[in-house]
Amino acid sequence: MATGKSTIGLRVAELEGVPFDDLDRLVERRAAASIAEIFQTKGEAEFRRLEREELDRVLEQGGKRVVALGGGALLEREIRLAALERATVITLEAPVDVVVSRASSEPRPLLMNGNGDVETRARQLLEARQRAYAEAHAHLSTAKGDVDECARRAIQVWKRSPILVAAAEHSYAVDVGADIVEGRLVELVGSPTGMLTVSDANVAKLHGGRVQKALRNRKLLELEPGEEHKTPDALLRVWNGALEAGMDRGGLFVALGGGVVCDITGFAAATWMRGTRWLALPTTLLAMVDASVGGKTAVDFSDAKNAVGAFWQPSGVVCDISFLSSEPERSFRGAVSEAVKSALIGDPELLTYLEVNADAVLAREASILEEVVRRSISVKARIVSRDERESGLRAVLNLGHTVGHALEACTGYRTFTHGEAVSLGLVSALRIGARLGSTNPSLTKRVPALLERLGLPTDLSRAPLKEAVDFLSHDKKRRGTYIHFVVVSEPGRVDTQMIPVEQLRRLALSS
Ligand code: NAD
Repeated sequence: MATGKSTIGLRVAELEGVPFDDLDRLVERRAAASIAEIFQTKGEAEFRRLEREELDRVLEQGGKRVVALGGGALLEREIRLAALERATVITLEAPVDVVVSRASSEPRPLLMNGNGDVETRARQLLEARQRAYAEAHAHLSTAKGDVDECARRAIQVWKRSPILVAAAEHSYAVDVGADIVEGRLVELVGSPTGMLTVSDANVAKLHGGRVQKALRNRKLLELEPGEEHKTPDALLRVWNGALEAGMDRGGLFVALGGGVVCDITGFAAATWMRGTRWLALPTTLLAMVDASVGGKTAVDFSDAKNAVGAFWQPSGVVCDISFLSSEPERSFRGAVSEAVKSALIGDPELLTYLEVNADAVLAREASILEEVVRRSISVKARIVSRDERESGLRAVLNLGHTVGHALEACTGYRTFTHGEAVSLGLVSALRIGARLGSTNPSLTKRVPALLERLGLPTDLSRAPLKEAVDFLSHDKKRRGTYIHFVVVSEPGRVDTQMIPVEQLRRLALSS
């Protein structure tokens, strides 16, 4: 409220040459009454209803446009998430005294009515809305009142088009693009009291210099590469590095590497001083499309993968597509199966996009990869934003992983990469779904054909399925004698079904 939304919104629209709407004005036009009158005669609930309908209409219109929203328009979470998924949302902020002095120039029902003075009401409103306002792609201060400068910064965010992982005060944006890491680091780092970059020997050699330069040569710790080094020992090394770098709670960890480095560094950040900020700079396709969203951090312990860990969201993620040009071939290809999974879960257009551009994906054409990474992350972000702590909805992300994990486990994690196992797991999940009568049978041909073109294994007759089904009873998603199995009916339509382990074994072997 009174942070300058209409003024700055209009300036952004002028500079970009696109239409501008002020949601309050749209509501007034629709009701043929002023906001104050609507509040007075029909009450806040009716105003919110009209506001929601107008916002829906504007979001439906699509196209490039700027909309200034009332301060209460995005308080309902589902509406906020819809806006975050379909638009770039920027929260403008100003100190309370500035808001109060600006607000006095026109009637503001929520500030004028109720108990207490205007300043107290403004503080109460801000406090009540803090969590909602935190869920935005960016926050810009308008305290200094320089309209053009604010508009310019808003345009920069809009052009970057980040994806938001909404988690109240722990929300963060994922940036995707080619050669963006230097530019983004300048903004994201802030002024930490200490900093430690963590990488592994392979990645440090190839990309460490570039990142170090952008970070003004702050300390870089090189871990040994590979899953076998995702251990408590590696975590100890990061803690020691943090100690040497003089890191306190105001410090910053930067993870530069694949999923292994990101998971270890994230967990170090979660535990250092009971929680320190960290940034993820994923350098593998898997770390971009999967590990960068969701805040899961961990190390392996004894034989158990990810046995010790925490949910700890990074403060920012930069997926610089240029890192992918050096990723080892098998690791890269494997991760494409996760993009196919994302398409099946929540983006039918991505499935078609992958079919049309399979060769360009394998040739790692930057613009094509950017689209694939962006879309895959959006699917996961949409799900994680509704289920931060994996209490239900997030289970659909497990599509293809039940049989996939079983294949990895029964071969001692030596025969298939994770991505190859997921590819076979997807083929199996679609066949099982078709046998259950839930999956459109055409998908059992369409998806394997795509996976094959992407260089991924699909031939279940050559996979050790008999050995794998014995591992199904160890599945993490097992509940008693049932497994939560993810079934696709059509691309973009998935659900989980409780299937007895025994039945699943039979279906997996016979399908
Ligand atoms: P990885 O981190 O081991 O990287 C694979 C190999 O590629 C390593 O040898 C690494 O040094 C090298 N490498 C990385 N980037 C490179 C680049 N740009 N150029 C050249 N070499 C490069 O493996 P991964 O596949 O990225 O990640 C697997 C890990 O991610 C697993 O431990 C898994 O548990 C974890 N993971 C976590 C999440 C999550 O939500 N946190 C999700 C998926 C996977």
